[in-house]
Amino acid sequence: MLQQTQVSRAVPRYLAWLERWPTVEALAAARPADVITEWAGMGYNRRAVFLHRCAIAVTEMGGFPREPEELRRLPGVGPYTAAAIACFAFDAQVAAPDTNAKRVLERAFGDADLAPPPGLAYEWNQALFDLGREVCIARRPRCEVCPLADGCPSRGRTYAPLRKQSRFEGSFRQRRAELLRAIAAAGSLPDADADTEALVSLVRDGLAEVSGGYARLPA
Ligand code: SF4
Repeated sequence: MLQQTQVSRAVPRYLAWLERWPTVEALAAARPADVITEWAGMGYNRRAVFLHRCAIAVTEMGGFPREPEELRRLPGVGPYTAAAIACFAFDAQVAAPDTNAKRVLERAFGDADLAPPPGLAYEWNQALFDLGREVCIARRPRCEVCPLADGCPSRGRTYAPLRKQSRFEGSFRQRRAELLRAIAAAGSLPDADADTEALVSLVRDGLAEVSGGYARLPA
């Protein structure tokens, strides 16, 4: 949930999610349509499909794999997520830098993939998250309060504005989201009435299915 959604928005949804599906097995047994509906409003809906498929895979395996290489074989789990699960859930001694943490590492040490000190991977990764989010921020880092300032070659620098995220308004993402909302609200929609391009994309991503001339959420 936190990959693309703000903490303040994700937390209540996360708690509601755990109320409904308190275990991996419970989520694996859910209907895809229910999972997609529960996710509604958080955006990037493919995450719901991947999370559900991931729960099915973990249930079939009899539990979570623990090594990053094995975790990466799960649906929707890329290198960053695999490293983060391995470190935070299973205490693997691996770096798990998100975008903010990579920025700190690059500026302070010139190496975005720097390995954590032995035995301190959890603390290292968490500290880098905090520094990247609160102190070593994108444009005007707050070097005056930074604990790395003494040895940091980037101290005092400022940076050009980041490229703005493309607008949601009028985008293909918006068309997909609107169609998914309409299908969920109606239960089924004649596929002839749907935005064809958006529908094809939803079907390809496992967010909808078409049969008998109607589009529905996956059964
Ligand atoms: S001293 Fe400044 S640039 Fe260096 S890590 Fe700290 S906040 Fe970032």
